[in-house]
Amino acid sequence: MPTPFWGPDFEALTSTDPEIAAVLLGELDRLRGGLQLIASENLTSPAVLAALGSTLSNKYAEGYPGRRYYGGCAQVDVAEELGIARARALFGAEHANLQPHSGASANLAAYAAFCAPGDVVLAMDLKQGGHLTHGSKVNFSGRWFQPVSYGVEREAELIDYDQVRELARTHRPRMIIAGATAYPRLIDFGAFREIADEVGAILMVDAAHFIGLVAGGAIPSPVPYADVVTATTHKVLRGPRGGMLLCRAEHAKAIDKAVFPFSQGGPLMHAVAAKAVALKEAAAPEFRAYTHQVVANAAALAGGLAAEGMRPVSGGTDTHLALLDLRPLGVTGAEAERRCEAAGITLNKNAIPFDPAPPMTASGIRIGSPCVTTQGMTEPDMAQIARLIARAVRGEAPAGIARAVGDLVAARPAYPRG
Ligand code: PLP
Repeated sequence: MPTPFWGPDFEALTSTDPEIAAVLLGELDRLRGGLQLIASENLTSPAVLAALGSTLSNKYAEGYPGRRYYGGCAQVDVAEELGIARARALFGAEHANLQPHSGASANLAAYAAFCAPGDVVLAMDLKQGGHLTHGSKVNFSGRWFQPVSYGVEREAELIDYDQVRELARTHRPRMIIAGATAYPRLIDFGAFREIADEVGAILMVDAAHFIGLVAGGAIPSPVPYADVVTATTHKVLRGPRGGMLLCRAEHAKAIDKAVFPFSQGGPLMHAVAAKAVALKEAAAPEFRAYTHQVVANAAALAGGLAAEGMRPVSGGTDTHLALLDLRPLGVTGAEAERRCEAAGITLNKNAIPFDPAPPMTASGIRIGSPCVTTQGMTEPDMAQIARLIARAVRGEAPAGIARAVGDLVAARPAYPRG
């Protein structure tokens, strides 16, 4: 039956631009043919992709629903209002903004809402798991603000809350950031709130990595503790690439203004609509089960890799990701990434806390379970994946491993055909 929807038309792309069409097909083959273990990636649903590939991409909608600088916004207003209502309900937040183009844009907006250039911001050290936007000198956060960094304890490799408190008392930051890019454990948001209150700082939680786990109830929520929560929508949450802000009502105006007009122009309404779709999907019971399986799979994968002689940083994981120290095997993170890629296993090298190796070499790898869990894999599959990773890391010829990877993903394919 013909659909009334003027949607993604692959034949049109093939005839207009066969080179880009080939890229799309090649990427689909890559997703279908290998194991995707990048902790910050996921496999979006056809519904999310349909919203992304829609005519909403055409619309200028500077402003917010009901308060636009352009006409013709009735339909996109509905999409954004639905998305905001879904985000607020899902996370129990008083206010939500779905317009940030990315996680970094959401973070820029949070800085803009609460800080002035030159203010001290206390956040996790990039070398110990923090993000570029947490004070790196090559980023706005380190160029325009005064970063002070906390890290993890050398032995337990858990956030050193005593250090956070001490640094907060000494440097009196305007804002404290909790949240990381490569930290496998739960974060004690209550402890951060207490420290922020003691020194009169704003508490920003960068939940880019784990907001999806919060949506599914697999880990505790930062929303009751934070003045503002920033997030991406494309990691565990399984939405389109993009960012999101959640905050208390008292900060709503400041946050909205910090996104538009301060740091962005027109919102990407196709992405906002796709975020609304993802948020609806994330409220379903299946997503709840998915997030619990994501955590169980990451733990199984970390356990399997430990049995193969790799050392899980902090002893394991409570989340969707694990960091593995490869020094016991005498292989660098960069070499392991390369060997795994040759065998059809995509993961990334990653610095471990107090890493003696430079970042482009790194002593560890980071693995994540969101994609393979979306494909329906469970703990027994993780045991197999751990063995395949170990064979690749140890330097076994890739062809045999790639065949085994092919068999595994054929049983639970990404984007099944037909
Ligand atoms: N914050 C954290 C903790 C992240 O891990 C990331 C991305 O990995 C970001 C922010 C930035 O997100 P984006 O790449 O969408 O700008």
